[in-house]
Amino acid sequence: MANSKYEYVRDFEQNEVLLRNAWIVVRVDGRGFHKLSDHYHFAKPNDRRALDLMNAAASHVVRTMPDLCFAYGVSDEFSFVFDRNTVMFDRRKDKLVSTIVSTFTAAYVHLWPKHFRSGNGDQPSEIRDAELDLLHLPTFDGRAVVYPSTANLRDYLSWRQVDCHINNLYNTTFWTLVERAGHGQREAEELLKGTVSSDKNEILFTKFGINYNNEPEIYRKGSCIYRDYDVGEPSTQGTTGSDGNSTYVALDELQSSAIPEHLSKTQQEKQRKAKLKARVVTAHLDIIQDDFWKQRPWILS
Ligand code: ATP
Ligand code: ATP
Ligand code: MG
Ligand code: MG
Ligand code: MG
Ligand code: MG
Repeated sequence: MANSKYEYVRDFEQNEVLLRNAWIVVRVDGRGFHKLSDHYHFAKPNDRRALDLMNAAASHVVRTMPDLCFAYGVSDEFSFVFDRNTVMFDRRKDKLVSTIVSTFTAAYVHLWPKHFRSGNGDQPSEIRDAELDLLHLPTFDGRAVVYPSTANLRDYLSWRQVDCHINNLYNTTFWTLVERAGHGQREAEELLKGTVSSDKNEILFTKFGINYNNEPEIYRKGSCIYRDYDVGEPSTQGTTGSDGNSTYVALDELQSSAIPEHLSKTQQEKQRKAKLKARVVTAHLDIIQDDFWKQRPWILS
């Protein structure tokens, strides 16, 4: 590398290195998606294509970044959780946030046509062939937050899932009042002012015969993305086998209490490869209760 008199400017760079041995969460959120969703005629309150696209983009991020152990998404946001011992980019905040945001955005834009071009003549014309235009490109912002304890991380994820529930119950009731009962949007807003969850459940059930609990789980619970492994299958222990696109990896290849710096290079590489081969799944489950985490101890191990 050539030295030059200009090189001193590098010393102006500031690197924020995130606390070691703590959970790093990077949350991306769509910029101006309220407007963007109008522009591309998203169905209200939940456009299934848009949610599937968010999940597909996030799944790509998790699949290609083995240091991510979990992701949770709702609406136009996704939270990505790094292994607490990750040494990716030496835990430099700018690098981690910008790489997640750009990988996610690139995948979202790339996958848009697959989700928004149904080619299905049965769809109303305005929701067919929603092609991206340069002046309305989807973009995302991102931030990193560090949680020192697993309890803090669990509370963070619970906070997002509760938010999903509260917003979805509100939006479902609001749009039912607008679309099924013909109320104006202002009117519907007034009707819902000061109501609590049970009131909204009641409105949905008594006025419209809708049991909120029967609404699709993807809307009520949001989306969880993580690697899944075969557990308790002695015949597959220590082996990897193929199943279509997905490969099952024995869990013991991944579980290690050693912190990454203390693993040999070969062990680190082996873990990374095992993760890259693992099956990445998307599920719509309760992550507030302990069950989800107890059944999948490798996620936060
Ligand atoms: P900001 O740039 O501050 O994040 P925003 O307009 O994106 O502003 P958010 O609070 O992030 O505001 O809300 C996202 C909005 O995007 C939702 O309120 C909703 O209107 C719309 N939206 C996101 N996903 C969907 C979806 N799957 N179906 C319908 N609408 C959606
Ligand atoms: P890192 O992820 O650390 O940035 P990198 O491979 O991107 O790794 P850089 O130092 O950023 O490394 O260098 C970018 C490299 O990309 C160049 O060395 C060159 O090989 C290639 N490259 C970038 N732009 C061009 C271009 N216009 N034509 C040909 N090669 C290019
Ligand atoms: Mg925002
Ligand atoms: Mg937004
Ligand atoms: Mg949002
Ligand atoms: Mg580069």
